[in-house]
Amino acid sequence: MKTVNIIVPVYNEEQNIAALFEAIKTNIPDKYRFKVVFINDGSTDNSLEEIKKLKENNPEIHLISFTRNFGHQIAIFAGLEHCEGDCAITMDADFQDPPELIPKLLESWEAGFPLVFARRIKRHKDSFVKKITAKVYYWLLTVASKVEMHAQVGDFRLMDQKVVEIIRRMPAEAKYLRGIISWTGCKYNFVDYERPSRVAGKTKYSMSKMVNLALDGLFSFSMLPLKLGLILGISSISVGLLFMLYIIYDTLFNNEIYPLYKWLVVVILMFVGFLFILIWILAEYIGRIYSEKLNRPLYIIDDENSDKKT
Ligand code: UDP
Ligand code: MG
Repeated sequence: MKTVNIIVPVYNEEQNIAALFEAIKTNIPDKYRFKVVFINDGSTDNSLEEIKKLKENNPEIHLISFTRNFGHQIAIFAGLEHCEGDCAITMDADFQDPPELIPKLLESWEAGFPLVFARRIKRHKDSFVKKITAKVYYWLLTVASKVEMHAQVGDFRLMDQKVVEIIRRMPAEAKYLRGIISWTGCKYNFVDYERPSRVAGKTKYSMSKMVNLALDGLFSFSMLPLKLGLILGISSISVGLLFMLYIIYDTLFNNEIYPLYKWLVVVILMFVGFLFILIWILAEYIGRIYSEKLNRPLYIIDDENSDKKT
């Protein structure tokens, strides 16, 4: 019998916990054993007590409780670190990731996809601004990181245990899981759904948490921002050079006299340009130190299409 782990990060979701557990229980097909890992991410309401109470009668529940709020992505990572089984499904506690989708995710997994993403087909609940920023952001991230990032995909997904093991080895990546999961390059499939509104409580993703998540994604998957110094440096030097050529031309052919202070513009542009280039060189070294520190594996082998060890 295969074991399915359901990983649910919880931050002040007291009204949702019991109902969610029931919904998960009814939606897992009978042929699977299942475990629900609740990660209490420093809730300040009664979420922890709710989970403990539920746990008394339901041995399928596994509880991890943080000392304080460490964040949604870290909570999911902790869940992944603590689950043993055949696959893991990560989902939110607020029913925005409908438990009715679980059988479809499992079907796709059984059909041979180690990664199954639940994809929102409509974001009609989101504001126009959120839709546009999401589109632009994921486009930028895909271009900058050269890893395919999917705009309509959140943290509702199924991962084969093989993928879970890969992710576990990279704790430094926990802050932007959807990035590193796409980065693994494992074969994936989508299950489409319409994202409903939150059942109870309020969103815990404040604007600042959202911006931080976006920045984590951009900075840990792209070294492109580091090149900014190079671009600015070359531009500044080029403009300086053009000025210089113009002054020389004007002096030689139009007999214009340029006092020394006018030459200063050229000197400043060139000098600033060289400074920018220097900053870029430093940035490149820092970038290299950073990527060494992340300790990502150099490659991931596709077991299906490779020969076993000789
Ligand atoms: N969450 C968490 N820690 C946080 C913020 C959120 O564990 O700091 C949990 C929350 O309880 C929910 C999930 O992460 O189960 C998604 O949060 P939310 O629904 O507030 O985000 P939204 O759907 O509004 O983007
Ligand atoms: Mg939500």
